[in-house]
Amino acid sequence: MGEQRVTERERRVAIVTGGSRGIGRASAQRLAADGFAVVINYAGNHAEAESAVAAITEAGGQAVAFRADVADEVAVPALFDLAEQTFGGVDVLVHAAGVMTLAPLADIDLDALDRMHRTNIRGTFVVGQQAARRLRGGGAIINFSSSVLSLALPGYSAYAATKGAVEAMTLVLARELRGRDITVNAVAPGPTATDMFLDGKDEETVARMAAQAPLERLGTPQDIAEVVSFLAGPARWVNGQVLRANGGIV
Ligand code: NAP
Repeated sequence: MGEQRVTERERRVAIVTGGSRGIGRASAQRLAADGFAVVINYAGNHAEAESAVAAITEAGGQAVAFRADVADEVAVPALFDLAEQTFGGVDVLVHAAGVMTLAPLADIDLDALDRMHRTNIRGTFVVGQQAARRLRGGGAIINFSSSVLSLALPGYSAYAATKGAVEAMTLVLARELRGRDITVNAVAPGPTATDMFLDGKDEETVARMAAQAPLERLGTPQDIAEVVSFLAGPARWVNGQVLRANGGIV
């Protein structure tokens, strides 16, 4: 605790949506290790969110958890309110919350399509609106696309379409924030070992997808958190980009 030499004024603050699990959680832990105070947002998994907060505080960092559906236009402003009230402002948004349902286009369940649109597209707009209005200068918005957009794998049409929307809005927002000294980028991971990727896949499918990259393994949440840390911190000249972090899959 004596190590916390950062004053209130110097302390940078990050909101991480989807911070309870997977890539969001690893990003929250990495940003906390970088010195950020972190607000961990989650949808419903209270125990995982609290365990993410505990991991950060036990390592000497600062974190709180806040439940909010990223597509809810009342809950998301409350998330930003909490960050401002607790830590004094918001510098970085890592918007990792997302859902994925896979099916061939001919068989897509339209309710599942609507749910994905709501979380992945509407959610990115609702969260992005608050970030655009409230982030302090010197800040960064980091959205999540997916490398599957360029891989065009069968079964991924609906999910990839939502990520195409995320890329489109990311690039436009980067230009709309001209003059604010806020960077806006998207990270597009390849197959990464999280619940989202592993759930519902047999061992053979996982092994086949892991072998796609020249580096011949799955990404880890920490691999992606490394990229988030770069974009949230030193990468002030990277703006309006989609950074494909996938071990070299073309
Ligand atoms: P994950 O392990 O399934 O974790 C998803 C996180 O999002 C959880 O914290 C979950 O909260 C939260 N969440 C889901 N719906 C939400 C909502 N409506 N409001 C607030 N939070 C919500 O996913 P992941 O693999 O880490 O994925 C992170 C991001 O990377 C996603 O945008 C995903 O599309 C993208 N991505 C992942 C991969 C991959 O291979 N894993 C590849 C490319 C892109 P609860 O714990 O409360 O459920």
